[in-house]
Amino acid sequence: MNVTGLRVLVTGGGSGIGRYLVERLVSDGAEVAVLELDQEKCVALSAAFPGKVQAWPCDVSDAEAVDATLQSITDSGFEPDALINNAGIIHSEPLVNMLSRGDRAHSRTNWQRVMAADLDSVFFVTSRVVDRMMAKRKKGVVISISSISANGNPGQSAYSAAKAGVNALTKTWAKELGALGFRFAAIAPGFIDTPSTRSALSDSTIERLQSQIPLRKLGDPESVYFAARHILENDYLTGTIVEVDGGLVL
Ligand code: NAP
Repeated sequence: MNVTGLRVLVTGGGSGIGRYLVERLVSDGAEVAVLELDQEKCVALSAAFPGKVQAWPCDVSDAEAVDATLQSITDSGFEPDALINNAGIIHSEPLVNMLSRGDRAHSRTNWQRVMAADLDSVFFVTSRVVDRMMAKRKKGVVISISSISANGNPGQSAYSAAKAGVNALTKTWAKELGALGFRFAAIAPGFIDTPSTRSALSDSTIERLQSQIPLRKLGDPESVYFAARHILENDYLTGTIVEVDGGLVL
């Protein structure tokens, strides 16, 4: 599959890694549709890439909103060849916060919010997009942005579980639909240098992390794009979880 001329649907393309993926896909000749929570980011995206990017406001953790927005996208004539499930929220919270004076146990509301944004969304969007691709007799590719936290990361119960679920779905779908020509893969980044990473982690934490990463630095969003392009272009790759982490999980 060649990126040039490809129609790619990207979730959460309004900022961070997703925004970078959109930019690079367009510069490599793809046409992109984006599902993004924030309406202003949608307006900014469509204005930044006129005729190349159409951005649709949509909460991908809301099944009905996903169905309605995907219908509008296909009604507009955009039939995706590939999907990148990137939207998600990074959340850290211990199972029991022993320093808290109030409710010490992990918030159930936060659990549900993270599972909805990071796992339900992947299921909601992929099921509908793949169904549509089948109806159009396409052999599509689905890439989901997971995380090395899927291996189990202390202080990230919900996030780790959601990303482990994303990896399981990737392998399940690769086995289920490979015979029809569909390919599924996930990218598991370590620490990527995005505004959300910088605002979530203090400078001293970033310094400490860097000393633990074999390559001694955070990853660039470009490293995630290179992995995505490799997955798109390599027709014999499916069910793979590509770690982009500077060697952190070795
Ligand atoms: P980010 O800068 O916060 O970007 C996430 C984007 O997704 C935002 O544009 C956000 O919109 C959108 N989004 C969130 N929930 C959504 C929803 N329910 N519906 C539609 N759009 C939604 O985060 P990032 O660092 O680029 O992370 C992108 C992906 O990479 C995530 O899946 C994350 O788990 C994964 N990841 C990141 C890192 C890292 O180091 N940055 C490492 C491992 C994995 P709003 O801004 O409007 O909320």
